[in-house]
Amino acid sequence: MQTDWLTTGPSVRKFEETIALFAGGVPHAVAVSSGTAGLHSAMFALGIQPGDEVIVPPMTFAATANCVLYQGGMPVFADVDPGTLLIDPEKVENKITSKTRAIIGVDYAGHPCDWDALRDIADRNHLALVADSCHALGAEYKGRKTGTLADMTVFSFHPVKHITTGEGGMVLTHSAVLDNRLRLFRNHGIASDSHQREQQGVWHYEMTDLGFNYRITDFQSALGISQLAKLPEFLKRRREIAARYDAAFSDVLHVRPLDVQGEIRHAYHLYVVRVPAEARTSIFLKLRQEGVGTNVHYIPVHLHPYYRQRLGTGPGLCPVAEDAYKEILSIPIYAQMSDAEIDHVISRLSVAVQEARG
Ligand SMILES: *Cc1c(COP(=O)(O)O)cnc(C)c1O
Repeated sequence: MQTDWLTTGPSVRKFEETIALFAGGVPHAVAVSSGTAGLHSAMFALGIQPGDEVIVPPMTFAATANCVLYQGGMPVFADVDPGTLLIDPEKVENKITSKTRAIIGVDYAGHPCDWDALRDIADRNHLALVADSCHALGAEYKGRKTGTLADMTVFSFHPVKHITTGEGGMVLTHSAVLDNRLRLFRNHGIASDSHQREQQGVWHYEMTDLGFNYRITDFQSALGISQLAKLPEFLKRRREIAARYDAAFSDVLHVRPLDVQGEIRHAYHLYVVRVPAEARTSIFLKLRQEGVGTNVHYIPVHLHPYYRQRLGTGPGLCPVAEDAYKEILSIPIYAQMSDAEIDHVISRLSVAVQEARG
């Protein structure tokens, strides 16, 4: 905070290096102004354009699909697995056409997708693989960290995520070519930033592509660096809370946590349970009334009015996600949560479910 830098300065590069190192030594990381900016930049870096299709899951925040539309491409929804609500590799395979260019997997709730299966499909069909890991900073898949599992991985540092910079995001990649494209897009499509030009003593610059101002500031990056130091502690606490919920709900009728595969380490951005569909809304309202901050993640993207009107999507397109949507409830999970608060949520939810079931 005490340096002279406000926007792009040394803290941005340091933040990028710190996240890249944390995510298992990925060689390239590009910090941007939000997770959404990161997803958009990833679509640009791949050269997504009108006529291209990108396969996405419906059980996600709208930005996962919106980023394809920003580039003029077409998001194609592939349904999710009923146990984990993660994109189902078999459904992905069924959606591939001659126009498909990429797959975006979403590590929903903090549980990594089946990245080996997605990689296999991507390789066999010459598709790019993008990870929307906005829920999954610090998660692992078969001993490999999120950040290393796709051609590009996007993280968000919005305040609801594991660590925050107010607004912010980052794209990680093993590819120097993609890294270069991401940096170009972040800065108006201009090849080098003013600092580099100053060092080179050159006034000349060229805009070669239509980019945006998607830069993050130096002071946000400084905050990100200090936040990242606390992440191991945050993750540890989130996993403890989840374990306590798991144990408690194994005894509660009609409260069913999502499946967790054995080969992963969950980051628990969300803790999602399924309750009977006919009782979900009354349970939600009762908990909210009692000051227990529940929510529903997510309304399937293809059911939003914009998608229905523009793409003609609607009910029946992804029945697994649509059925799950009627039953899901996200219950409180955050690093500062006390044991007493966890027990309070467990008892309030258990009572609300019994009451709603009559
Ligand atoms: C938060 C989030 C985003 C968008 O990130 P912002 O930083 O808010 O732009 C995208 N995808 C998913 C799954 C998210 O949870």
